[in-house]
Amino acid sequence: MPRGKVEFPYSSVRKKLLTWFRKNARSYPWRTTGNWFHLLMAEMMLRRTRADQAARVYSRFTDRFETPADCQTAGPTELLEIFKPLGLQWRARQLLETLDYLSDSYAKRTPQKSDDLLAIPGVGEYANSMLRNRLFNEQLPALDSNMARVICRINGWKYSAESRRKKNVIAVAHQLVQTKSSRELNLAVLDFSALVCKPGKPDCPLCPLVRMCSLGGKTVRRPVGFHAST
Ligand code: SF4
Repeated sequence: MPRGKVEFPYSSVRKKLLTWFRKNARSYPWRTTGNWFHLLMAEMMLRRTRADQAARVYSRFTDRFETPADCQTAGPTELLEIFKPLGLQWRARQLLETLDYLSDSYAKRTPQKSDDLLAIPGVGEYANSMLRNRLFNEQLPALDSNMARVICRINGWKYSAESRRKKNVIAVAHQLVQTKSSRELNLAVLDFSALVCKPGKPDCPLCPLVRMCSLGGKTVRRPVGFHAST
């Protein structure tokens, strides 16, 4: 292997992450829904909001509205009242704009492809990939700053807010989810990056990837009697 070139251990990382996830997955109501509209709205609500905060709004919203057409029975006042706990006015306005579009365009049908999703106000590249992965089972990564941070740390690459747009990070993310468990793997990375490979100080001593991670391998001292494999 040329000096400096890193071979990413895809198979081992997938296996370890999925094993970890099956024991440590967080539980949120949008993770079990098969309703594309609810899933899309969850994604919009989660933007810059804590998941537990979004979960309360999500449950109230989905109890009341099953389809975009149902929202036509509600006025902006009721909708804004439901969205109020999310806190950000710009997002409440964006949600109304999204609902207007969905009520017009998808009252009785479902988005079928990437172009459909990208045309929905508020849906960007991340939401597009995440939704295609969840709805159509396409093997696409939900590549956000969290997934980028994990990939950079494992590879020993410098991480920044721009890392998720770097070609090498994008390539690894795409390759990582080339598995029939891609939906579960995307969720596994999300939870792993929130609970173990955290933005501040990662919990390397408790990490199932420690033996294959550039950062963990160099910096971690494991407690006596600890076994990294799970
Ligand atoms: S060893 Fe540490 S830095 Fe590496 S993936 Fe695990 S938690 Fe993240």
